[in-house]
Amino acid sequence: MIRYKELFLGPKCDNKCLFCYYRLGNYEQPDFNTINNLLGQTEHDSVVLYGGEPTLRNDLFEIINIVKKNGFRRIKLVSNGRSFSNNQFLLQLIKEGCLLFEIKLWGSNPDIHDYITQTPNSFLQTINGLENLQRLSCDKFICLRILLCRQNFTDIVNMIITGINLGVNRIVLSLEDHNVPLQDLLPYIRIALNISILNRVWILTEGFPFCVMQGLEHHIGEIYHGYGSKIYPRTYKYHKNCQHCIYKGICHGVYTEYLNKFGHAEFQPIKFNRYFKEIKALFG
Ligand code: SF4
Repeated sequence: MIRYKELFLGPKCDNKCLFCYYRLGNYEQPDFNTINNLLGQTEHDSVVLYGGEPTLRNDLFEIINIVKKNGFRRIKLVSNGRSFSNNQFLLQLIKEGCLLFEIKLWGSNPDIHDYITQTPNSFLQTINGLENLQRLSCDKFICLRILLCRQNFTDIVNMIITGINLGVNRIVLSLEDHNVPLQDLLPYIRIALNISILNRVWILTEGFPFCVMQGLEHHIGEIYHGYGSKIYPRTYKYHKNCQHCIYKGICHGVYTEYLNKFGHAEFQPIKFNRYFKEIKALFG
């Protein structure tokens, strides 16, 4: 798995998502010089630009130029996808060498998506952006990040089908809300994973411990990219049963807020797992 330098371009966004880390936090918009300095300090050869909404910056193309001058080979944009409904803008990005995209989706229809983004028309623009991406003939890579919360988890299958129909290369199911009991959510996750696998679209999860993903553990995203990303900051903690689990050390436990709310009784330690050695090797 490619390790990216994560570069925050500021909290400014045209959506107001209910579960956004950056909307409610105290984050400043870094200026161009700050970004330029940060790009000089790295051991990575790939960079991911995120916000907020990075495409809203007036100096985005200058930043991309500096990224290239600093020798980064891959540039990924994490975006709500709305700006890509402007095809000219998208073509300019491609021309500048940005070919990797991660687009965030909260629902398979405007009622759910726009309710969570608190922004009318955001769904239609995001879908238009994905359609424009799909039509590009160049060698791009599109990841669809489906963000899960109490308002949308029953819509997972429709969102997966939307992504598959739009030709995405990978889907990530990312848990953003600590108020959904996992026993309610997991049946939907299993169906979603199976639909994606059957359609040969690689699918990963984020935020689910190994003990609730038995049989599907190869789809736990943290195996491949670790737990340290700043893009979706999360805190995990071990519970009483973790001390008896062979995955302790690879798994970082359960979301702190979830454990505080629901307790640990549903998380049973794993004593044996036939994929353990393989997963340990992948985790590194
Ligand atoms: S018991 Fe603890 S360490 Fe083991 S998989 Fe579950 S949360 Fe992770």
